[in-house]
Amino acid sequence: MAYDFDLYVIGAGSGGVRSARFAAGFGAKVAVAESRYLGGTCVNVGCVPKKLLVYGAHFAEDFEQSAGFGWTLGKADFDWATLIANKDREINRLNGIYRNLLVNSGVTLHEGHARLIDPHQVEINGQRYTAKHILIATGGWPQIPDIPGREHAISSNEAFFLKELPKRILVVGGGYIAVEFAGIFHGLGADTKLLYRGELFLRGFDGAVRKHLQEELTKRGLDLQFNADIERIEKQADGSLKVTLKDGRELATDCVFYATGRRPMLDNLGLENTAVKLDKRGFIEVDEQYQSAEPSILAIGDVIGRVQLTPVALAEGMAVARRLFKPEQYRPVDYNMIPTAVFSLPNIGTVGLTEEQAREAGHKVQIFESRFRPMKLTLTECQERTLMKLVVDADTDKVLGCHMVGPDAGEIVQGLAIALKAGATKRDFDETIGVHPTAAEEFVTMRTPVAG
Ligand code: FAD
Ligand code: NDP
Repeated sequence: MAYDFDLYVIGAGSGGVRSARFAAGFGAKVAVAESRYLGGTCVNVGCVPKKLLVYGAHFAEDFEQSAGFGWTLGKADFDWATLIANKDREINRLNGIYRNLLVNSGVTLHEGHARLIDPHQVEINGQRYTAKHILIATGGWPQIPDIPGREHAISSNEAFFLKELPKRILVVGGGYIAVEFAGIFHGLGADTKLLYRGELFLRGFDGAVRKHLQEELTKRGLDLQFNADIERIEKQADGSLKVTLKDGRELATDCVFYATGRRPMLDNLGLENTAVKLDKRGFIEVDEQYQSAEPSILAIGDVIGRVQLTPVALAEGMAVARRLFKPEQYRPVDYNMIPTAVFSLPNIGTVGLTEEQAREAGHKVQIFESRFRPMKLTLTECQERTLMKLVVDADTDKVLGCHMVGPDAGEIVQGLAIALKAGATKRDFDETIGVHPTAAEEFVTMRTPVAG
C-alpha cells in the first residue's frame, strides 16, 4: 500500500524533532504534528527557560559577594516582568529556529492536535494522513494530586508566565523541579518554603549529596519543610491562600506551586483505535526498539517514562530514525552512566552509581570525599561549601560514580561522564594532571578513602 508518509511524528519536542530531522535526512518522507509549541517542553516550559531563570536568580549572590572584591553597588532592584519578557523573546527566537530546522530538512510541519484513527492513520485539522510508521513523541504534563483546592495551585507550566513575582510561595515536591524552582524564587527575593512529604528530598540521589544540599540551602535561608504534606488549599478574601497541612499546621502564602512529577501526555490521542498498550504507571509500553504493542506505532521520550531528560529523548529519537531508515548506522541507546544536573543553587552534578546503589548491587566500595570552601568565596562572607565524591569498586578500581554539589557541577560532571563511560579506574583519575586552580581538579587529587 502507498502511504502519504514513511514516518508521521506526533509531537515536535526534543525527541520528535530529532527523529523527524534525522529520518528526513536519511531520505524518508516525514511529517511532524505539533499542537502547542515548537521545541516542546524543554524549549518552552522546561530546560531552557528554567536555566535562564536560574541565571537570573544567581545574580543576587554575585552582587552580595562582589563587596569582598572591592565593589560597592547601589541597592539592587529586580524586575520580574523584564526577566519574563526577555525570556519570552529568546524562546520565540528558538521557536523560529526549530521551525527552520524542520522545514529546511524537508519535514512537512502540521500545526494542530493529531489523533490516531487507526494503526496507520492520523487526523489533524480535519485532514487524514496515512503513514507506514507513526512515532508518538507527545511528552508529559505536570501532575497535581487531587486535593481540595488544587485549582488554586500552579505547576511549572504557569510558573514561567506569572504576571508578578509572588511575595510568598510554597513549592511542593522534592524532585528536580521543586528544588530548582525553590532556588529560583528564593534567589529572586520571594519568601520561599519547600514542602516535601518524605524525610529528605531528592530521593534516588546519593545520600551525601542530598544531605549536603539540604545544609547549603538552609544556610542560604531557604525554608525546607520535610515530612510535610498539604491537605487542602483555601482562597482567602484578600486573595492570599490558606494551606492546611496533614499534621494540622496552617500556612499563609500567595502562591502554591506543585512539582510532583509528570504524567504521559495521551489526551485525545486516539490510542483506543490501536493496539498500543500502557505500562503499570500509565506510560506507553515499548520494547527495546521503541515499538509499541501495535507494530506500526513507536514511542519515545517522556511519554514512555524511562528517563525524563532531553538528551535521552534526543538519543531515542535518533535511534528510531536510524533503525527505520539507516539500519547500518543503528546503535541502541545505552542507559548506563547518564549524567544529570539539578540546577539548584548550588548545582548538583552526578553520573553513575550512588554509594547506596553500588552497595546494594554488591560492590565492595571505596568512598572518596572532599568538602571545601570554593576559592572564589575566600574573599567573601559566604560560607558555602562544595562537596565532591567518588564511588570506587575496591576490587576492580573502576570508578562507579561521581557526585558533586557546587558551582558549575553540571559542567564538570559532563566531562567526567566520558571518563566513566570509557571505564576509567581510580588510578586513571589519580594519574590525570589537574587544571589549577579549579574546583574540578579536586576530582583527580582525592587520595585517602573516607569509607570502605
Ligand atoms: P516534549 O518535549 O514534551 O514534546 C512533546 C510535544 O508534543 C509538545 O510540544 C506537545 O505540545 C506535543 N503534543 C502532545 N500531544 C500532541 C498531539 N496529540 N498532537 C500534536 N502535538 C502534540 N531535561 C533536561 O535534560 N535538563 C533540564 O534541565 C530539564 N529541565 C526541565 C525543567 C522543567 C520545568 C521540565 C518540565 C522539564 C525539564 N526537563 C529537563 C525534561 C525535558 O524537558 C523532557 O525530558 C523533554 O522535553 C522530553 O522530550 P519529549 O520529546 O519526550 O517531549
Ligand atoms: P520528580 O519525579 O523528579 O519528583 C517528584 C517529586 O514529587 C518527588 O519528590 C515525589 O516524592 C513528590 N511527589 C510525587 N507525588 C506526590 C504527591 N502526591 N504528594 C506530594 N509529593 C509528591 O518530578 P518533577 O516534577 O520534579 O520533574 C519531572 C521530571 O522532569 C524529572 O524527574 C526529570 O526527569 C525531569 N527534569 C529534569 C531536570 C534536569 O535535568 N535538571 C529539571 C526538571 C525536570 P517521592 O520522592 O517521595 O516520591
